[in-house]
Amino acid sequence: MKRAGIAGFALVLCLLMAWRPAGAQGIEDTPLPADATQAPIITPTPLPRPAPVSTVEQDGTTVELFFSTIAQGQVGLVHVIGAGLAGARARLFDDLIDFFPVEGDGFYGLLAANMEQNPRSYDLTIFAWYDDNRRVSIVLPLDIVRGDFIRQDITMAPDRAYLVDAEIERGELAKLESIFSQRTPEHLWDARGFQMPILNSTLTSPFGAFRTFNGILQTRHTGWDIRTTLGVPVMASASGVVAYAGRMDIRGNIVVVDHGYGIFTTYNHLSQIHVTRGQSIVKGQIIGVTGDTGRSSGPHFHWEVAVNGAFVDSIQFTQTWLP
Ligand SMILES: [Zn+2]
Repeated sequence: MKRAGIAGFALVLCLLMAWRPAGAQGIEDTPLPADATQAPIITPTPLPRPAPVSTVEQDGTTVELFFSTIAQGQVGLVHVIGAGLAGARARLFDDLIDFFPVEGDGFYGLLAANMEQNPRSYDLTIFAWYDDNRRVSIVLPLDIVRGDFIRQDITMAPDRAYLVDAEIERGELAKLESIFSQRTPEHLWDARGFQMPILNSTLTSPFGAFRTFNGILQTRHTGWDIRTTLGVPVMASASGVVAYAGRMDIRGNIVVVDHGYGIFTTYNHLSQIHVTRGQSIVKGQIIGVTGDTGRSSGPHFHWEVAVNGAFVDSIQFTQTWLP
């Protein structure tokens, strides 16, 4: 199960700067700028629809693939169309992935490869069903290829060294796994895609890095780190519903947003959280401000995307066209 794979990941964490700035304490009391709390900020330029890389026709069903291979920790989009098509889903890595309808344009599904998925060829089975009860299944080869991941050695300051603990990581991943296992069958994101949570972002530590903390704990980086100062507004990448808002040991103050159909984004190490669980939010809405909470060695923002229970490269995800 891919979901079991997630628990195998070691976890996260962030941090690049080995120093802790003076004044880091007390940021929780810093108020948001008055104009930053409500108005959504939408970054421009929705991605254009790409041409499919390959097309397969069988039994009156057309399957378009928008990828040739999928790298570890990345996603791939599938499109299914056919006269009278009533629904579609896929089976991959023993997981079933429900496809979402797009008015007048059939069904789309998002496939995701875990960053630790063994790189080889797999069977991708597409199931399509029709108004007249016809059922079609199409088996295609899907090549998972090796991702390009760096190695990092990270030193945690003594006051947070207790967070360099495999047991704490396992517990936190299990909690996230439980949140990500919710599959809301609603297309909650909007057609303009997913945007960066912080404007004018500078990326620092990459997704998927093999990390060693304090020379002992081996783990993987489950998101991207963005350079930031304390107290910078953090926006929802896309519309959705808040699936979790609270405190975790490693991620600190965290918000998890459910965008529907197995797509989640997480916003970590926050100093303040401005949303509550179950709340509907819109793309660009300020959901909190940056901080230095959890297993962090300096102010920064850790941003994750999970699809079908697997952490995926959040930057690649923002560059993936989604209807
Ligand atoms: Zn990070």
